[in-house]
Amino acid sequence: MPRRLRVGVSACLLGHEVRWDGGHKRDRFVTNALGPWVEWVTVCPELELGLGVPREPIRLEGDPAAPRLVAPKSRTDHTAAMLAFVRARVDRLVAEDLSGYVLKSDSPSCGMQRVRVHRPRGGAPARTGVGFFARVLRERLPLLPVEEEGRLNDPTLRENFVERLFAYERWKRLAARPTRAGLVAFHTAHKLLLLAHDPAAYRRLGRLVARTKGRRAADVAAAYGAAFMDALAACATPDRHANVLEHMLGYVSGELAPEERRELVELIADHRRGLVPLVGPLTLMKHHVRRLDVAYLAGQVYLDPYPRELMLSAGPGSSRRSGAARARSR
Ligand code: SF4
Repeated sequence: MPRRLRVGVSACLLGHEVRWDGGHKRDRFVTNALGPWVEWVTVCPELELGLGVPREPIRLEGDPAAPRLVAPKSRTDHTAAMLAFVRARVDRLVAEDLSGYVLKSDSPSCGMQRVRVHRPRGGAPARTGVGFFARVLRERLPLLPVEEEGRLNDPTLRENFVERLFAYERWKRLAARPTRAGLVAFHTAHKLLLLAHDPAAYRRLGRLVARTKGRRAADVAAAYGAAFMDALAACATPDRHANVLEHMLGYVSGELAPEERRELVELIADHRRGLVPLVGPLTLMKHHVRRLDVAYLAGQVYLDPYPRELMLSAGPGSSRRSGAARARSR
């Protein structure tokens, strides 16, 4: 990568002592694994609003569809002030050229989903809230890959997020100066990655790129970018990885010795059945692609969607290692 990715982060996840009680929530994956690849843009909405450290804790309260931000002890209502603050703060973040965002879970300011919404007169809170900052961030930057640190403990969601960070970074470079030729080259390089995530989207995007006549390149690029990032939000599955690898096999099969072909076919089948991690057939496929110099396959982002060092640090459950069960990442 020519530069580190600029990624927004809830300040407490980096170890900044900005929480209501003066503590932090330093997250090891965020700091140790992502840190070397990232230039962090830190935000603590509650501190920056002027609530201070330590401060009275605040929470979402009232109507789950439109909760208020309240300090329950003093009954201070911070709703209007926080809304005005986060709108202005997110406006400034738009200029920061972010490639992603890691939010603190369960926070009435930063939580991305399932934040508790309390009832003023007691009773079990509804887990339906979204933090004030998180809501405005996602409305304003809908393509931005966003995750919570808690969900990043799931190897599949973690890998999906890292893939989307780097994909969005590549996409932004094209979107800054969209051309038809650039869009075709981008789509060509991402074909197999898309196929592993969402085969239907892969076909839709192919049609979009093929039918650009009479349309402004910027309009096509905008439609493509939204559908592209949405497709990558669907986590890849062992079955789809196996389909992609079988598709690749078609390009190299004629050049392989019978025993080489059999080895690859068996590894792909074993991955489909969950017996070997993706890294097995993928590494062998990469070896043959390099050895046989198959240009189309060598240019596929699918083979190296993010820096190898990051994959190694992704842990034993990484889907590129284990082929674990998948879920949509958002
Ligand atoms: S969760 Fe958000 S508001 Fe709360 S301390 Fe962390 S950064 Fe600040």
